Amino acid sequence: MKLHEYQSKTIFSKYGIPIPKGRVAATAQEARQIAEELGGRVVIKSQVLVGGRGKAGGVKLAKDSAEAEQLATQILGMEIKGLPVRKVLVDEASAIDQEIYFAITDDRAAKKPVMIASAAGGIDIEEVAAKTPEKIIKVHIDPLLGLREYQARDVAVAIDLPREYWKDFVKIAMGLWEVYKNSDATLAEINPLVITKDKKMIALDGKMMIDDNALFRQPNLTELRDTDEDAPSEIEARKYGLSFIKLDGNIGCMVNGAGLAMTSMDVIKLFGGEPANFLDVGGGASSEKVAAAMRIILTDPSVKAILFNIFGGITRCDEVARGILAAMEEVKPKVPMVVRLVGTNAEEGRRLLENANMITAETLADAAKKSVEAAKKGS
Ligand code: GDP
Ligand code: MN
Repeated sequence: MKLHEYQSKTIFSKYGIPIPKGRVAATAQEARQIAEELGGRVVIKSQVLVGGRGKAGGVKLAKDSAEAEQLATQILGMEIKGLPVRKVLVDEASAIDQEIYFAITDDRAAKKPVMIASAAGGIDIEEVAAKTPEKIIKVHIDPLLGLREYQARDVAVAIDLPREYWKDFVKIAMGLWEVYKNSDATLAEINPLVITKDKKMIALDGKMMIDDNALFRQPNLTELRDTDEDAPSEIEARKYGLSFIKLDGNIGCMVNGAGLAMTSMDVIKLFGGEPANFLDVGGGASSEKVAAAMRIILTDPSVKAILFNIFGGITRCDEVARGILAAMEEVKPKVPMVVRLVGTNAEEGRRLLENANMITAETLADAAKKSVEAAKKGS
């Protein structure tokens, strides 16, 4: 889950990381009001969950509150990388001397958190990494020991930070480590971390990503979720506790178990098809859950066939069959459906589906082949 800049910076500030004064606004009038309170010179920043807002024209400086209102009107009417701007952050403008990149993220290969810093901040860090990788400093953090102050100091030295800023930098680094750790973040990023002309170090931008698997113990962060960027089908799936990811193909997949779901997608591709989604209905799925999953799959107009691949273990095939029948009552699917049921109560499940006009398959390969054929006929 991604957090907005204003949300990330509010969290940063709670951990002692200095941020500019400012507030979020949903209308241009509000933006003007905030600019007046801040003394006129402000920066208007689109709050959308994508990077590179600056380059896209979504970050603008205003010299007074009238210009703030005008720029807010303009930015609130924008779409950035397909996302409509619904809010702007109005921050006191800073006079920038230097822009630094600083982040803590997961290094999956090293199985450790890693601190990343660069004196070439502000711009796309991916670009810096590609063109001048020597300008990027990486230091791993022992997850049990946590970030040590000397490590942060080493980084300050490595990015040629003047000595007078070491203390501030270490404090910010330690703060960001606490943010990252306590929020179950997979990324806590400040780009740019600036040194202002009046020699202050502040987090001008903020970005956080939270591990979805940890949201159960992060109720305060869960509340911050902005579903604007999510596909409606994914939002609906989340309500039912289904692991669902929308994809671009035309074969809807309903599978129990993440591994089996991935395998099913692979086998579909092997036979020349394209899955329309990843879906794991989970172990022991109830018929309501199955029905919800089927509704979600069928509301995607690009779905031309559905593959059900159910391996009954804890999940009972008859329960799945009942879910399929319940959903068919409701949504009256017009696309062909291929079903493979094996395991617990498979016979009962097959019997229930006998009159449901479904294509049956014995093996996964057989099921995948049949669904690819069916989707080709249907499109
Ligand atoms: P991003 O493009 O989505 O990463 O948005 P940022 O918040 O990082 O802003 C992009 C760039 O706008 C920064 O790198 C700065 O160069 C500039 N910028 C943002 N806020 C200010 C400000 O208060 N004063 C000045 N002078 N420039 C700013
Ligand atoms: Mn930025």
